[in-house]
Amino acid sequence: MAEVEQNIAALLSEERVFEPPADFAAGAIVRDRSPYERAEADLEGFWAEQAERLTWFRKWDAVMDWDPPWVKWFEGGTLNASYNCLDRHVEAGGGDKIAYYWEGEPGERRAITYGELLDEVCRCANALKSLGVERGDRVAIYLGMIPELPIAMLACARIGAPHSVVFGGFSAESLRDRIIDAEAKVLVTQDGGYRRGSEVPLKANADEALKECPSIEHVVTVRRSGGEHPFTPGRDHWYHELIAEQPPECEPQEMDAEDILYLLYTSGTTGSPKGIVHTTGGYLTGVAATHRMIFDIHDDDIFWCSADIGWVTGHSYIVYGPLANHTTGVIYEGAPDWPDRDRLWEIVERYKVTILYTAPTAIRAFMRWGTEYPEKHELSSLRLLGTVGEPINPEAWIWYWKFIGRKRCPVVDTWWQTETGMILITPLPGITRLKPGSATFPFPGVHAEVLDDQGNPVPPGGGGYLVLTHPWPAMLRTIWGDPDRYVTTYFGKYGPNIYLAGDGAKRDEDGYFWLLGRIDDVMNVAGHRLSTYEIESALVDNSKVAEAAVVSRPDELVGEAIVAFVTLKSSYEGTDGVAAELREHVANKIGKIARPHGIIFTTDLPKTRSGKIMRRLLRDVARGRPLGDVTTLANAEIVEQIHEMVDSGTGEE
Ligand code: ATP
Ligand code: MG
Repeated sequence: MAEVEQNIAALLSEERVFEPPADFAAGAIVRDRSPYERAEADLEGFWAEQAERLTWFRKWDAVMDWDPPWVKWFEGGTLNASYNCLDRHVEAGGGDKIAYYWEGEPGERRAITYGELLDEVCRCANALKSLGVERGDRVAIYLGMIPELPIAMLACARIGAPHSVVFGGFSAESLRDRIIDAEAKVLVTQDGGYRRGSEVPLKANADEALKECPSIEHVVTVRRSGGEHPFTPGRDHWYHELIAEQPPECEPQEMDAEDILYLLYTSGTTGSPKGIVHTTGGYLTGVAATHRMIFDIHDDDIFWCSADIGWVTGHSYIVYGPLANHTTGVIYEGAPDWPDRDRLWEIVERYKVTILYTAPTAIRAFMRWGTEYPEKHELSSLRLLGTVGEPINPEAWIWYWKFIGRKRCPVVDTWWQTETGMILITPLPGITRLKPGSATFPFPGVHAEVLDDQGNPVPPGGGGYLVLTHPWPAMLRTIWGDPDRYVTTYFGKYGPNIYLAGDGAKRDEDGYFWLLGRIDDVMNVAGHRLSTYEIESALVDNSKVAEAAVVSRPDELVGEAIVAFVTLKSSYEGTDGVAAELREHVANKIGKIARPHGIIFTTDLPKTRSGKIMRRLLRDVARGRPLGDVTTLANAEIVEQIHEMVDSGTGEE
């Protein structure tokens, strides 16, 4: 067998280019290359100017202190994140602006102004203090998408207690593990939430988790679904009773720039979740600057990031970035297909959403459901679309642009991670020529490169490891309780100066970055290192396919054989004929080397609770191995189904 190539093969070539629409460009926040030039000339000066858009109690002494791999930003500066998100806007006369339109899954609606949000955050902060929460104590938050979620986060920020939000779709065990790891003192939860018409038993899960969480002294429960719940006297409190007694004023703590704002665990796509630590000054600077420039935020925008606040996307682009920029946002509690598959489009129409930010996994679901759902609604308020979470296949990008943006709206494909805190690779929609499937260029002041195994830059057209060669303000500071894991995970491969993202990437001849999926998922086929993304994109390029995941399994002939798991659009059936067609389609589109050996049709793919495809489980299935950790899986049943299909040999050549 040939020696395995060092670099990741780059097979896909995407020729379509989209210029910024002229009217969009004319009114955009960023209309020329000056932010890139400014950051190029004086990186620290650029970030200092972004930081100056926030309100500081005390100005910093130094912009950045880099003692690789440890970094500090804006040391000596003091500020408060909740003050920056709320008080300063209210003080400037902006208290009547809507902060959030909230919509419950069953249909309730609430509009919350900045002034109202500030009052309630103060009451909640006072309530936490009354329970003994002090600066530095961790507060776990296990809530669905209700207004009390951002309120509790901002209340923690106000008093300097790092929050650890645990996604409301997680099980009791996942909650328990995260509470134990963070040694949280108080838990804020709710009785029940709504998802697809049924109740999510958050409090019951919390009670189960708390059997093994000795650090928790108090539990605060928000009443949402009603009904009876066992309360432990002395430990359990109703949120509404607690805050009713509290005054709507609470002095914000003066926090150091480097004080911890929050911990957040990664989604666990590749392994056990890591407790990512974010601090205050650099994080807020990074999320506010990226939110404003990438989403082109104007005063009258209605910005809807449809992620769950339980993920970093929601932390940065539902809560901290938008509020720091005094933006009006939308929060929707439930499922996109409840009561029908047009719920999101109904919401866009109702609130006249101007900017929508969602995930490729959602877009692929919309593709599978069909265009009749968005077509039922008036979507003309939209002017900009965004995606995050996974590489977006060019066909999914085009679908989003065409059927949601109606060919008017630029699409910003934003690459970032829980660890990066803020978007790092992204178009700026008023100036960047877009290529579907490419996250385009590093944000001003961000230095990204693609390296080979030895640490040499990979020439244009080749694939390799995505790295960041200079710190950025919202970068993680460490892994909670495990600084060694911080060093080895992110700085183990190329040394302490170079952050390893764990994703594969290539740059094309024009310098565009293309994300190729996770390094762990790269396959060795007949001497070539193939990324999953390009083969999946070639499959999704076929008009019958909605979603695909490819993995490899050992094969006597070629070393590793490619197995593709494919979900078709709802009007097609997975016959042997279609399997043959798809194999040929991939061979024609990107080359024979990438032709899948086996095609397995499935109704869904195993996904994390944040909606990312979990290839490591499909790999186990394809190799007939016992399944690895499935606790972060959203749809465990599908793995069983796929297992049975593989055992019966469907779709093999
Ligand atoms: P874990 O690190 O625990 O395995 P995770 O990586 O899924 O979990 P997140 O921080 O939520 O946790 O996800 C970040 C990852 O998502 C990135 O490293 C990348 O693989 C993927 N990703 C996010 N946005 C994009 C994008 N625009 N294009 C390509 N990939 C993306
Ligand atoms: Mg990760």
